[in-house]
Amino acid sequence: MNIEFGPEFESFRQEVAAFLDTAPTPDIREAGRKTTSVFAPFDQAVAWQKILHARGWAAPAWPKQYGGTGWSVEQRYIFAEECRKRELPPLLPNGLQMVGPMLIDLGTEDQKRRHLPQILSGEAYWTQGYSEPNAGSDLASLQCAAVSDGDDYIINGSKIWTTLAHRANRMFMLVRTDKTGKKQEGITFLLLERTDYPGMDIRPIIGLDGIPEQCEVFFDNVRVPKSGRVGAENDGWSVAKHLLKHERGGSAASPALLHNIARIRAAAAATPSPFGGSLSDDPVFQRDLGELEADILSYRHFEQLAISGHPMLRDAAYPSMNKTMNSELSQRVSIMMTRVSGIETVPLQLEALNVGSNVAPLGDDFDLIAMPYYLNTRATSIYAGTNEVQRDLIARTVLAANR
Ligand SMILES: Cc1cc2nc3c(=O)[nH]c(=O)nc-3n(C[C@H](O)[C@H](O)[C@H](O)COP(=O)(O)OP(=O)(O)OC[C@H]3O[C@@H](n4cnc5c(N)ncnc54)[C@H](O)[C@@H]3O)c2cc1C
Repeated sequence: MNIEFGPEFESFRQEVAAFLDTAPTPDIREAGRKTTSVFAPFDQAVAWQKILHARGWAAPAWPKQYGGTGWSVEQRYIFAEECRKRELPPLLPNGLQMVGPMLIDLGTEDQKRRHLPQILSGEAYWTQGYSEPNAGSDLASLQCAAVSDGDDYIINGSKIWTTLAHRANRMFMLVRTDKTGKKQEGITFLLLERTDYPGMDIRPIIGLDGIPEQCEVFFDNVRVPKSGRVGAENDGWSVAKHLLKHERGGSAASPALLHNIARIRAAAAATPSPFGGSLSDDPVFQRDLGELEADILSYRHFEQLAISGHPMLRDAAYPSMNKTMNSELSQRVSIMMTRVSGIETVPLQLEALNVGSNVAPLGDDFDLIAMPYYLNTRATSIYAGTNEVQRDLIARTVLAANR
């Protein structure tokens, strides 16, 4: 199976291109060029989502009945490619790619009605409260507790690494509702409709790149309604795992990887080599970039097979394979970027990175983002489940299937 973008898709590509050429505002475009993480600058990412939503294009992969586009796999891929070509900011993923698809599959009709429209419009931004100081890879050991009290739960405990919690107005989280028995069997999945409940304290953590992207969240007798529970009490583990499949396997990543290869190639052509000519004439550089590009093209083939409905998509190992490959390719891309940017990567230019900043960067936008992107990308093999744990899952799934 292969995805061919034949002439029948040309008019679709032109329609998308015409919109993407005119709809984004200058600061949305600037945010795209200054994105150093899977999370684009928050305000511009939300502004861009609102524009796409008005066009009906905020959630290409959602079913049409819930506000998706009804596009084919090929159309979705073309859309992702055209967005990347123009360096537009990626939309914030937690609502559109995680909690939204999970609710479509597992939410009650009331939960879908309440939440899906606000996820689509960008009004609601969801942060993910899974990890705790002593529950990361071993997530089922989580201790943040919810005690039943009439129509509410009362939550006590803490979460950590909660990405963009300081900007979010919704949170989905896992809580312990039973301490007896097997640890997976005492977990409940909750949707919190606010992040400013009395007793909730959100404290940003400054990352390696100097940017506060993750947070700690503390709960001191926080009362939340039980209507936010997804699935039955103590059955949250299956909901959590369902959502993780969307987190690890949910989107087309190869257009962004390939776009970065094109950026690296252009920057290398403009960078003098100490051995004469430009960096792109250097045979060692050519070999390394060629190897990386070949690996990305092979990943693109894997990704296209999967999103075009290959049976592999239903394989339990698929989300882990996708997550592992994608995250390691991003890390290799980031290393290559710092190699091209060279000495220009050294200053961390936080002021110049702000959208709308009047501080001119040293070097160009490529140099500006190379180091923060490299530093941020160290975490791709940690979040959404570490790659060591994903490899273990792949081995167990594949070996069990072939036994
Ligand atoms: C940038 C970033 C963003 C994040 N965003 C979120 C978020 O929004 N919401 C959220 O809930 N969490 C988030 N996380 C948390 C993330 O999911 C955890 O960091 C991750 O699951 C690993 O857990 P840990 O940090 O406790 O490391 P540990 O689980 O303590 O692991 C430490 C090391 O031991 C290895 N290891 C552990 N167990 C095994 C095993 N069984 N076999 C082999 N090796 C093993 C790991 O691979 C790792 O190298 C984020 C983390 C980062 C870094």
